[in-house]
Amino acid sequence: MADVFTPEQRRKNMQAIRSISHLERRIAQELWNRGIRFRRNVKNMFGKPDIAIKKYKVVIFIDSCFWHACPKHCVIPKTNTDFWLQKFKRNQDRDAKVNEFYRSKDWNLLRIWEHEAKADLSGTVDRIAEWIGYIRNFRIKDEATRDDARYESAASMEEWENSVSIPLGQTLKIIDSLTTPISNETVAK
Ligand SMILES: [Zn+2]
Repeated sequence: MADVFTPEQRRKNMQAIRSISHLERRIAQELWNRGIRFRRNVKNMFGKPDIAIKKYKVVIFIDSCFWHACPKHCVIPKTNTDFWLQKFKRNQDRDAKVNEFYRSKDWNLLRIWEHEAKADLSGTVDRIAEWIGYIRNFRIKDEATRDDARYESAASMEEWENSVSIPLGQTLKIIDSLTTPISNETVAK
């Protein structure tokens, strides 16, 4: 595979990697400045999340427009096009697998596009912080509610879920609305 990349392509690849690493560091720094504590590039977690908070079951991925085949900005290289189409497809399949893995384990997953953060860094960080705050508050409320008499007297989990002030479905809906959907359109054409 050594000659897959032209020197020009190799340079572009390196630039795309440097650009997203720089952006990840800036987002992490901003979150840290706002008092949010997390781990970065967690190698022993599936998909190696860019940001993870185990306590709140939160994982955040900051997706490069190039490597994750952003439908708006990913330009498929003109040389070795088939290689790149396959590469992008594999990356998207892996993203979908990662999403499914965390969802199946009731984790809260957020994907941010590079272009969103580049266009408005502080707005993006506000949105991430708000999302984490929402999950944190919900978990606190959730735990408090579990301990109260209603939980003791509820005949079933379903009954208890119906009695809490924020239904679980609503939380998931809000989180879904904040999560960028994965599009396969770029590689399908
Ligand atoms: Zn993009």
